[in-house]
Amino acid sequence: MPDPNERWEDNVPGKWYVDKSCIFCGLCPQLAPNNFRESEDGTHDVVYKQPENAEEQAQAQDAAAQCPVQAIGNDA
Ligand code: SF4
Repeated sequence: MPDPNERWEDNVPGKWYVDKSCIFCGLCPQLAPNNFRESEDGTHDVVYKQPENAEEQAQAQDAAAQCPVQAIGNDA
């Protein structure tokens, strides 16, 4: 389960986030490139822009569903 209390500080503010259980597999930026990318320090991925339309919402949902460690949340 993604934990909003464990979200990386470098996610942009908003509902969607990556938490610290991310193993940096690189999948979410491939599935939702408009919203997820590698962190500045290159240790994890973050939400750099909140999903703003139906396509981005769907891509973010897909990334959350496929994340191997369930590190992507939208309940913050
Ligand atoms: S899919 Fe999950 S584990 Fe992989 S980089 Fe994204 S948040 Fe991290």
